[in-house]
Amino acid sequence: MYDNKIKIEFEGKSQNEGFARVAIAAFASQLDPTLDELTDVKTAVSEAVTNSIIHGYEGKNEGIVFIEAELLQNEITIIISDLGKGIKDVDKAREPLYTSRPDLERSGMGFTVMETFMDSIEITSAEGEGTRIILKKKFNSVS
Ligand code: ATP
Ligand code: MG
Repeated sequence: MYDNKIKIEFEGKSQNEGFARVAIAAFASQLDPTLDELTDVKTAVSEAVTNSIIHGYEGKNEGIVFIEAELLQNEITIIISDLGKGIKDVDKAREPLYTSRPDLERSGMGFTVMETFMDSIEITSAEGEGTRIILKKKFNSVS
């Protein structure tokens, strides 16, 4: 049974969003996903990391974003977390088109995108403590 795990952490600067996307894609490639599956994972990671940077750390270019990823058989689990401001109402934040930052021209679709492209998403957050997103996806599943 294939099993592998990585951890990365980086400063919450928008320049590092691309790094995170490519790093996770490189890791996920070990499971030989299709291009579409890989694109889905990259898109979801990109949304979660961007949220940590612009919402969690309020775009201040400081604070650390943590990513853990694990491959187990044909499934990838990705945990993206920050120690930023946290989310007051997670149910509301998950709603399509809800954004706390219309002033930044955000569209409020990040969580909806993560839900669409991954098999599951779990959000844990506490105000003033931070946010943790667990994303899971199975590759090459015959449905
Ligand atoms: P978009 O992703 O479309 O640019 P958005 O980031 O506002 O817009 P979502 O990604 O769906 O939309 O997030 C919804 C809301 O949840 C955000 O507006 C923000 O209030 C809150 N949120 C999401 N992630 C975090 C986080 N890591 N820390 C604090 N708040 C967050
Ligand atoms: Mg977002």
